Amino acid sequence: MNQTILVAAAALGISSAHAQPMTLQAIGKLKAPFELAALPYPAGSLAPTIDQKTMEIHHDKHHKAYVDNLNKLVADNKDNVDLQTILSKISSKEAGVRNNAGGHWNHTFFWTLLSGEKENQKMPERLSKEIQSNFGSVDKFKAEFEKAAVAQFGSGWAWLIRDNNGKLAITTTGNQDNPLMDVAAVKGRPIFTVDVWEHAYYLSYQNMRADYLKAIWNVVNWKQVDAYDREVSAH
Ligand code: MN
Repeated sequence: MNQTILVAAAALGISSAHAQPMTLQAIGKLKAPFELAALPYPAGSLAPTIDQKTMEIHHDKHHKAYVDNLNKLVADNKDNVDLQTILSKISSKEAGVRNNAGGHWNHTFFWTLLSGEKENQKMPERLSKEIQSNFGSVDKFKAEFEKAAVAQFGSGWAWLIRDNNGKLAITTTGNQDNPLMDVAAVKGRPIFTVDVWEHAYYLSYQNMRADYLKAIWNVVNWKQVDAYDREVSAH
């Protein structure tokens, strides 16, 4: 398959373990009218870690609502700026744009970070070394990430970012905020995230957010995390 066909396949959302990874740049360049792309894998492919019903409701109802609401709010946006630009100036927007632009960016990013494919679940050597040098070990990183994610009060997200000094750092945001927003307490370029809203885990885990977080490592697409980090490092 030549390069043109691969790029076309990626643009159409055709994916497999061998498909080209998503890029932060591609998500940032999305513009109105925003669209709900299909999940990059079957909704049941992450079970039993994340059950099919949870994935269907989360994507088909919750994510769709963020997209629909965002489109209503930016319908008269004559500048037609892209999602990255909206997030970087979110302090100047109404609350609805902040919630729904964040919701669309965060979920688009989150879906790509999960995979039921063994080949994607293996952490690339380069990323493993980066995590070890920043956190001591991969296990220490996971423990620190889980602790931060559990401590996020109410709805929100836990993040692994490259901060403005190029260091890997763990951070959390409330509601649908993210580290690309000008309002974020800790800003940076996200390379990984976990949704800790109850809608992400309640059917299988009820109120046990810590159990959901422990389990989610089973379905992380480390190949994609590595690709986002290499993209960030290249900038
Ligand atoms: Mn969610």
